[in-house]
Amino acid sequence: MYSVKEAFYTLQGEGAQAGRASVFCRFTGCNLWSGRERDRAGSQCTFCDTDFVGTDGQNGGQFADAATLASHLERLWPMTASGRHRRYVVFTGGEPLLQLDKTLIEAMHARGFEIAVETNGTLPAPAGIDWICVSPKRDNALRQTQGDELKLVHPQAGVDPQTFVELNFTHFFLQPMDLAPGAIVTDGSPMEATVDYCMHHPQWRLSLQTHKIAGID
Ligand code: SF4
Repeated sequence: MYSVKEAFYTLQGEGAQAGRASVFCRFTGCNLWSGRERDRAGSQCTFCDTDFVGTDGQNGGQFADAATLASHLERLWPMTASGRHRRYVVFTGGEPLLQLDKTLIEAMHARGFEIAVETNGTLPAPAGIDWICVSPKRDNALRQTQGDELKLVHPQAGVDPQTFVELNFTHFFLQPMDLAPGAIVTDGSPMEATVDYCMHHPQWRLSLQTHKIAGID
């Protein structure tokens, strides 16, 4: 059984794949926060701005098996999309690695999809994922220490980007903290701090939430 909060067709907004047409599948649940406001202050991600509770979002629901969910996601890829392209699905959450497994990966590959995951890195990724994006959160030990993209929200209290620079990722992105409830800003704006950090540490590149700039989901 897979629980999905919402699923939709859009453009990837962030990181190295920004601008790419994608089916987003947001799984229900996370291992770093219950998603309930009353628990926010004691969670690992006081800045979280994602609703991953329940299955009541757009195209959300419970899916009995991988084939059923894969067919559901395939139907979201528009028939009118043409040209030379690979279908692309982004599994996110919440924490997608609580649910994404080998069977679902195979089912999406069988339907011609390239598969990306956006994970907090506290769980190991199953084999077969085509694009792994890890977004570390505060004091949590990383178990997924390699992949395509490491994307760090900045600044986070107690998190030094330099602690990640030796990990085996192709791209290193810093993304300014969205000022959600609980955000900790000590000095200047998150945007200023992130731009300044990237200019002084060129291994890191600036990631913007371009979907918000473009006004799309
Ligand atoms: S890991 Fe991501 S989805 Fe989970 S609580 Fe933290 S920011 Fe939110």
